[in-house]
Amino acid sequence: MKSECDIAIIGGGIMGLSMAYQLSRAGVTNVVVLERGYMAEGASGRNGGGVRMQWSSESNVLLMRESIDLMRHFAQEIGVNVWLRQGGYLFLARSEAEREKMETNVALQNRCDVPTRMLSPEEARAIVPELDLSGIVCASYNPKDGTVFPWPFLWGYAHQAMARGVEVRLHTGVDAIEPSADGYLLATSKRETGERDTLRAKRVVNAAGSWSPEVARLVGLELPNRPHRHEILSTEPLKPFLAPMVSLLSSGLYFSQSMRGEIVTGISLEDHDDGSVKLGSRLGFLTKIARELTQLVPRFAELEVLRQWAGPYDVTPDGQPILGEPLPGFFLCCGFVGHGFMMAPVIGKRYAEWLSGKKKDPIFDRFTLDRFKSGKLEPEEMILG
Ligand SMILES: Cc1cc2nc3c(=O)[nH]c(=O)nc-3n(C[C@H](O)[C@H](O)[C@H](O)COP(=O)(O)OP(=O)(O)OC[C@H]3O[C@@H](n4cnc5c(N)ncnc54)[C@H](O)[C@@H]3O)c2cc1C
Repeated sequence: MKSECDIAIIGGGIMGLSMAYQLSRAGVTNVVVLERGYMAEGASGRNGGGVRMQWSSESNVLLMRESIDLMRHFAQEIGVNVWLRQGGYLFLARSEAEREKMETNVALQNRCDVPTRMLSPEEARAIVPELDLSGIVCASYNPKDGTVFPWPFLWGYAHQAMARGVEVRLHTGVDAIEPSADGYLLATSKRETGERDTLRAKRVVNAAGSWSPEVARLVGLELPNRPHRHEILSTEPLKPFLAPMVSLLSSGLYFSQSMRGEIVTGISLEDHDDGSVKLGSRLGFLTKIARELTQLVPRFAELEVLRQWAGPYDVTPDGQPILGEPLPGFFLCCGFVGHGFMMAPVIGKRYAEWLSGKKKDPIFDRFTLDRFKSGKLEPEEMILG
């Protein structure tokens, strides 16, 4: 086990592991990833696997165009199949106000070379004949969006990074961080045994997702992101019939069909915001989603629910991430709300380019912690969830 490293990454979710993998590819291998739990314990092991280029902010459209391109080559590059299926994303609008926003977003996406198009309700039904489109005024559809199976991403990144010398330390939490002459001294403990250790790191990355405010506090930084419980379920398998991810703009309801035929569906519910991560499942979620889902697809009324679970969305005030270097040698990679999984390939790559000294992308000067103090916020992302 290393007692010193060039870069310590706190958090072994998709962000930390993507970054570790890309750093190792860039030749930076004296890296340790510290994960308090098991691999995929956080949001990365609990998400819906949706990947899309349909966004309302230009930077997200461009980042996701590149990220999906990286995913398309993942199997050849990493040797793991992530089951990327580009069956499209079908967003449904219920009001004229939503139509207006949708048209603006589609125009922006087209300017970024993303082939999204506006559809009438009848055209949407041609893609998913099971939809009951009463009250739906229009839809937007990009055939290049899709879904992935999340877990192999984590295994693939971790495996390839470790093969190049990166250490991924599971069940090892970071409890304290002290600045030192040549970087930081991290105090760690093993979750099961309580065994304590230290690690010296020249640079530290906080990739702890919804727990990133706690980690930032260890160096005296206050972050504005807050965890929001997001619930999701999967049903018994059905014969494959559904190609796209379908999402209702008004309620944020979404559903897709997995490789095994299960319907995977989620929706956000109000939650008490006391700043702590909550992972319990609630009956209120089941009743809300059952109502929304069966209204849109009446045949789902017959479906049996197999599993229900929750995970944390890492929510920022403007729906955009928090990146950059707020303290010398201390970096942030958090605040990805409900879309960090799909962003991780491209964000990990950009971070590795910067930390390996190749080039610094402008996103690291735009999505900073400072923007919340200066009030110079980025345009708010409107298509969250
Ligand atoms: C139900 C649900 C559905 C979602 N659907 C989608 C989707 O369809 N598409 C999409 O792109 N995104 C989706 N997301 C969001 C996505 O999962 C997250 O944005 C992404 O996984 C965040 O990755 P991360 O690495 O930043 O955080 P996480 O995966 O949460 O990883 C952070 C890790 O840090 C560890 N940690 C915390 N504190 C410490 C410490 N002190 N020391 C060491 N380790 C620590 C935690 O154990 C955790 O494993 C969804 C999220 C949820 C909850």
